[in-house]
Amino acid sequence: MTEKLTVYGAPWCPDCRRSKQFLGEMRVPYDWVDIDQNPEAAEFVREKNDGKQIIPTIVFSDGSFLAEPGNDELARKLGLTMKAERSFYDLVIMGGGPAGLTSAIYAAREGLDCLVIEKSALGGQAAVTERIDNYPGFPDGIAGNELTDRFIQQARRYEVELLSAVGVQSVRRQDGYLVTATETGEEYRSHAGIVATGSRYRRLGVPGEEDLIGAGIHFCATCDGPFYKGADELVVIGGGNSALEEGLFLTQFADRIRFLVRSSELRASALLQEKARSKSMIEIMTDTQVTEFRAKGGKLDAIVAKNISTGEEQEFHPQGAFVFIGLTPNTGFLEGTVELDQWGFVATDATLQSSLPGLFASGDVRAGSTKQLASAAGEGATALIMARQYLQQLGDVPAHTQAS
Ligand code: NDP
Repeated sequence: MTEKLTVYGAPWCPDCRRSKQFLGEMRVPYDWVDIDQNPEAAEFVREKNDGKQIIPTIVFSDGSFLAEPGNDELARKLGLTMKAERSFYDLVIMGGGPAGLTSAIYAAREGLDCLVIEKSALGGQAAVTERIDNYPGFPDGIAGNELTDRFIQQARRYEVELLSAVGVQSVRRQDGYLVTATETGEEYRSHAGIVATGSRYRRLGVPGEEDLIGAGIHFCATCDGPFYKGADELVVIGGGNSALEEGLFLTQFADRIRFLVRSSELRASALLQEKARSKSMIEIMTDTQVTEFRAKGGKLDAIVAKNISTGEEQEFHPQGAFVFIGLTPNTGFLEGTVELDQWGFVATDATLQSSLPGLFASGDVRAGSTKQLASAAGEGATALIMARQYLQQLGDVPAHTQAS
């Protein structure tokens, strides 16, 4: 997608936040213009909307615009495919990250008809990872989006049907078929399915967080870091691999990166810890638990944190905060249908099959998975091979596709 757009809005406007979040998820680059800070921009918005100040007003590179669009309207304008060509497939793959796309590539090569349904943009979390240095075959490392673009190109080469911006609402067994219902109101039947919906960054759940998402609080440094070019200070919350990697990426935008880590020890690899500690602009504060985010004018104004050992409370005033405190599985749509573990990850047997017959799971969403890109791709291949065996047992795979 090469479209570059401009979003005119204000920090206090919930529809602006929703549109910004949608564009972020679809990885569509955009410029943000705060009309409260820019009278000319406010005038421009009124001119576009017959004198009315409607926000967000989203202007596209060809000069066309949408005023206060819903996500569906925005998706259509961006040319995203949201409805499949057919209503029946051999296999429906839920999730278009590395695990799902690998299953799709394998399925297509086996001659299985498959449909991939992705809630956000194809590529998954890996696509918003700045740099991937541990995926075999790329000795110099590779940008996350470049690697996942290759996965997508490979799936397209085999003419896999790929939907994006379409969430799965539920999966059920009915009349011997698996029925996958989407949030867009469609239903797709299949003989088998693979859940590869991955996980998303967990939230702190403290006061102020929800309201400030996109207005000072972020979960993706690659997507939102550039908004803070020239900032005095950015705060990163968390001490795992994600926090350190993303924090190191943020060093190019701000003069100081402050890590707030609740434990006395970091969880990140020794290599990443060494990298971070070698930079004087990085300050790591351990034993520090964030308790509140405070807002001023709809934007982040202060982070309140407590030192766990002394009980002392401190306030920080960074321009932005990036939260990386682990992962929550994307399995809400499976609750009550499929066995999940205590954290909500999909429980599977040795063949990666879930408790719902014919429904397999792979990658970050699967209980016990290692949350590594190479493993996700590997599990994607395994899940497809297991699903194919399941289809063979049903007698639903024609003989010519049964080669290994
Ligand atoms: P991790 O679970 O590894 O780390 C989470 C961090 O957030 C810990 O510092 C944890 O603190 C902290 N935390 C959790 N909950 C809270 C809370 N409520 N308040 C404050 N702090 C909290 O998560 P990551 O997202 O970093 O990584 C997820 C997985 O992905 C891991 O397996 C990781 O290894 C992998 N990964 C691998 C990469 C690579 O190989 N290059 C890159 C990125 C991720 P505490 O220790 O106190 O629990």
